[in-house]
Amino acid sequence: MPTDLQQVDPEIAELISLEARRQSDTLALIPSENHASAAVMAATGSLLTNKYSEGYPGRRYYEGQQLIDRVEQLAIDRAKAVFGVEHANVQPYSGSPANLAIYFAFLKPGDTIMGMALPMGGHLTHGAEVSITGSFFRGVHYGVQKETGRVDFDQVRELALRERPRVIICGGTAIPRQIDFATFREIADEADALLVADIAHIAGLVAGGAHPSPAPYADVISTTTHKTLRGPRGAMIMSREQHAAALDKAVFPGLQGGPHNHTTAAIAVTLKEAATEDFKRYAQQIIANAWALAETLLEAGFDLVSGGTDNHLILIDLSNKDVTGKVVSQALDRAGIVTNFNTVPFDKRRPFNPSGLRIGTPAITTRGMKEAEMRQVGRWINDGVEAAKKGDEATLARIRDDVRELGQSFPVPGAAAQSRIASGV
Ligand SMILES: *Cc1c(COP(=O)(O)O)cnc(C)c1O
Repeated sequence: MPTDLQQVDPEIAELISLEARRQSDTLALIPSENHASAAVMAATGSLLTNKYSEGYPGRRYYEGQQLIDRVEQLAIDRAKAVFGVEHANVQPYSGSPANLAIYFAFLKPGDTIMGMALPMGGHLTHGAEVSITGSFFRGVHYGVQKETGRVDFDQVRELALRERPRVIICGGTAIPRQIDFATFREIADEADALLVADIAHIAGLVAGGAHPSPAPYADVISTTTHKTLRGPRGAMIMSREQHAAALDKAVFPGLQGGPHNHTTAAIAVTLKEAATEDFKRYAQQIIANAWALAETLLEAGFDLVSGGTDNHLILIDLSNKDVTGKVVSQALDRAGIVTNFNTVPFDKRRPFNPSGLRIGTPAITTRGMKEAEMRQVGRWINDGVEAAKKGDEATLARIRDDVRELGQSFPVPGAAAQSRIASGV
């Protein structure tokens, strides 16, 4: 019996089916990616997408909110419980608008934001020049120490006291080490700045108790919901009660219109999952796996930024391998290992063809892989890099077959059903 999607749009149905197969046959090592559960995807695919709900629970601009209010309130209550915060806004469409809303709540155009520099591991929305956040506001940036690959707190303090930013933001997209929220708090106090912790990458580790929480230190916490937290594409802003009204107003009506209620429902499901013992074990295993993978790479002579990892992410500096991140990431993609090229701190190459390769363990850990598989993945990466240097397509094809075979023992949540739905069997 063909499904509606197959009937209405066989082209898209086919592409979804093939994407389900691609995800199953390859290894997603991009550290910002994950595999959401079938329950999360069921909520995302629900008819809650039909409803307009501008406003907040109990204070809406449209009628018919009897059930949507309960959905959003559940998401809010669960966010507060999981992250130990006084206030949560679950409406931001994604991490980038969440950060923009935070700036809109506290800054005037031209005010100063201080964040980690993009090439050092920060995010575009932390005041990078090409971003609206660096164009409407003044971005100043700190980095890491060359020798240690860790945040240079002398520089952070010096910059904060000199530039007097209204907001200091910590967190980023290519940080392989724990974030020292307490020291950022001290410096924010010295500089009389607000401290925003952007935990987009590590929210799942924080929720699972595998990374220290920013809640005791940060004025505001920003996070996506689709990275280590393993939910739908979306975001949350959390804070002390003191900032609740300003943040809510900045999200709506400041930046956004109607919330994506299907996403809100899926965030509620995600947070229910994140509160379980199973999820705690998952968060610990992400880190254990990253360790096992890092060790294998170090043994194979790879240079890792900061010498290793404390979290889900590994940043490989390929300079000593005489090959660029782009060449390697494209070769590994042909071998079924999906990564992304990335700048490394103090990179001598350009961002579109940099020296680094960024990998992470959240998605493959969701599939149930453990340390033994990580060591295998590390060996494949090593073989893949050597093959990339020689243009040895036969080796890449052999790895691709082996990866596909491994993938069969570690199913992607929901993939079998989606490939069936899409192909209409
Ligand atoms: C991913 C990310 C964002 C942006 O999230 P999007 O959902 O891609 O807009 C913001 N900050 C950090 C640190 C991130 O890693």
